[in-house]
Amino acid sequence: MNKVVLITGASQGIGAALAVKFAENGYDAAINCYSELTFENGGKQTAEQCRKHGVKAECFIADVSKFELCEAMVKAVVERFGAIDVLINNAGITRDGLLVKMQEQSFDDVIAANLKSVFNMTRHAGAVMMRKKSGKIINISSVAGVYGNAGQINYSASKAGVIGITKTTAKELGKRGITCNAIAPGIIESPMTDVLSDEIKEKMLSAVSLGRFGTADDVAHAALFLASSDYVTGQTIIVDGGLAM
Ligand code: NDP
Repeated sequence: MNKVVLITGASQGIGAALAVKFAENGYDAAINCYSELTFENGGKQTAEQCRKHGVKAECFIADVSKFELCEAMVKAVVERFGAIDVLINNAGITRDGLLVKMQEQSFDDVIAANLKSVFNMTRHAGAVMMRKKSGKIINISSVAGVYGNAGQINYSASKAGVIGITKTTAKELGKRGITCNAIAPGIIESPMTDVLSDEIKEKMLSAVSLGRFGTADDVAHAALFLASSDYVTGQTIIVDGGLAM
């Protein structure tokens, strides 16, 4: 039987690439989409691409910032696929702004989508993995969570929090055969970064040692490594082409 990967926020960008890369490597893919609209405009196509690799792939619509919706989604995935072997907490948003100008709502929205979601999903999928005494949890953090980033007080707080959740999960669930690690990408080409101006992109690029932005595939390679490793846990792998050293 194929292993099962559940990826949050997988209708587009890095999440969609993760789904296809894991499908290529023989995983059945449970693809979480935020809404009916993102299912229609991305999730459906991601699932089709996965199925081309001969695996099962289905979409599950849920706002992962909502505790009960995560519980229902995890239940539905187990009913449809029989297990969750790998959970990738990928869903995320940005609402950038300088500290003294940031609205409270922008802070709360980012914490809910980027941090609470990781608790919600780990809480429910972790319980499933504990019963099976095996599982891999991979959380997508960011270099902004490791080093901070001006203009992203909400985002960097959420992504630093993800690293805290990662270490605590690794400590709590390790004896149950479950690993938990984080990936901290630098600047990755995706719809999230497409909106940046050319001027900002040029400035950022000049700081990347490898002289190019990362691709979703670069992140997917690190995720595949973590999904296949039994003795790496509680770690944060930085995938940033040498941006932050
Ligand atoms: P995208 O904006 O392309 O994708 C993010 C995905 O998350 C979208 O599919 C979005 O759905 C989904 N999502 C957002 N909120 C929710 C929610 N509450 N419930 C379910 N799904 C949700 O961004 P990327 O692919 O670039 O980012 C993926 C992850 O990588 C994020 O966690 C991001 O913070 C992180 N990251 C990205 C970097 C980059 O340079 N691109 C750098 C470092 C980290 P919808 O389309 O409906 O909004």
